[in-house]
Amino acid sequence: MTVIPSTWSACTITLNLANRAGKPPLVLALLFVNLVCLWSPERVFAQSELEAREEAAATITVADLSARIGALAHDSMRGRATPSPEIDKAARHIAGRFKEFGLLPGDGDSYLQLYPLAFSVAGPPEKQSLEIVGPGGREIAPEDFISLPGGGVEAAGPLHLSSLINAADLTESVSLVYVKETEVRDAMSAVRRLLTSGAEGVVLAIDSSDEYFDGLRRFFSREQMSLGVPDELEGPAVLVRLSSLPAALQEALTSESAVTDYSAKVRTNSRFRGDQAFNTIGWIEGSDPELRDEYVVFTAHMDHVGVGRPVEGDSIYNGADDDASGTAAIIELAEAFASLRNPPRRSLIFMTVSGEERGLLGSRWYSENPLFPLESTVANLNIDMIGRNWQDTVVAIGRDESTLGATLEGVVADHPELGLTMIDDPWPSENFYFRSDHYNFARKGVPILFFFTGTHEDYHGPNDEADRILYDKTSRIAQLIFFLGFEIADASKRPEWDLEAYRRVVEGGSE
Ligand SMILES: [Zn+2]
Repeated sequence: MTVIPSTWSACTITLNLANRAGKPPLVLALLFVNLVCLWSPERVFAQSELEAREEAAATITVADLSARIGALAHDSMRGRATPSPEIDKAARHIAGRFKEFGLLPGDGDSYLQLYPLAFSVAGPPEKQSLEIVGPGGREIAPEDFISLPGGGVEAAGPLHLSSLINAADLTESVSLVYVKETEVRDAMSAVRRLLTSGAEGVVLAIDSSDEYFDGLRRFFSREQMSLGVPDELEGPAVLVRLSSLPAALQEALTSESAVTDYSAKVRTNSRFRGDQAFNTIGWIEGSDPELRDEYVVFTAHMDHVGVGRPVEGDSIYNGADDDASGTAAIIELAEAFASLRNPPRRSLIFMTVSGEERGLLGSRWYSENPLFPLESTVANLNIDMIGRNWQDTVVAIGRDESTLGATLEGVVADHPELGLTMIDDPWPSENFYFRSDHYNFARKGVPILFFFTGTHEDYHGPNDEADRILYDKTSRIAQLIFFLGFEIADASKRPEWDLEAYRRVVEGGSE
């Protein structure tokens, strides 16, 4: 659009000059003017650029999306849980597409960013014991204590009463710590501190309701997954119900006395095991030497919840909408941008993450271990569930947080042929803002837009199948995100946060 006035003025000047000189003859001059106008390099460039963009967007097709969603959400992918052989297969498959399109690998020479996972594994009850030795002392019943995953197996020694904040000389003793229900979370770091500062073992005596203690027991008896390498405790540690301890010991604990006549023997064999998962990342270098060190990142999560409770005989939770729809859109966007002879000025990153359904783990790992500087990442466009519900309405979360909202509005207006309407989040009480991968970019200061078309009765169920997706709508949304991504990556100015939103999301965001 902006090139049209300069083309006109170039034509006008040529016309004036031709008239003033009197020759060549007017007819010839007009012919010349017409040729100049028609063949003006700027105009040809502008037209072909717009056409090229339209052509690239047209590579995002219903047929491609349907094939890609069909493959990702096929029963053979068993719901793509993290970690699983199937999610790794999805990650490698997408890496193969990125390579085929000619994208550059995101992590050195690989399209796969590996990240570590740790699972806690509760040992068998017969291999765990807690014995209190002293007046009224006894072997504690298995239902009254819980083993924490740790490296050490056995510890014995005099019981040394510690407060959470005040660990004295603990060598060759077992620390006994009194903890209230509200302090359990902090107590875990105290356990770690006590063990690294020399305690042989730790017994946390919990003063809580039976209901709360039984909740903890259930939590620790299940396998727990966390991001990072296994961080084992250096010795055995157990949580024990305060009421199961000898009365004199309970008394000493609650009166904060430091001396006891008791000792303890602790035996556990709960452990961690390590695992891993991948994010798939490819990129296209921007065309402007000044701006190509800035990035627009497109994200979607390729994982889902795996195999679950059967409903009418079907136990595979296919996740066609959640989020094979977004993942397929990212693959299509990568293909569309890669087909452009002239990419936009800034570089473009295409990322499909795993671990979203387990707590946004893949994107969290990336945001803590970015492969491209986050301060130079100017925008994140995240796509999670764009295949169901309304035909023409899209929720764009984050519109009022940055100038991206106005850019989106402009792109929607420029493309009436897509027939899409953007709305704000109609379900603020659902806290969707914190429930997909853009959040890990936003909290690190990257302006975001999150595209979403709502949950439905098949959400996180075995009927989120590929044949229920509205493919025409999905392709129009992906095309809109293509035009939007181009606009953001090609603009002279990078997007800017609304100050109030920045304070709320970035400065006030929890880690
Ligand atoms: Zn999702």
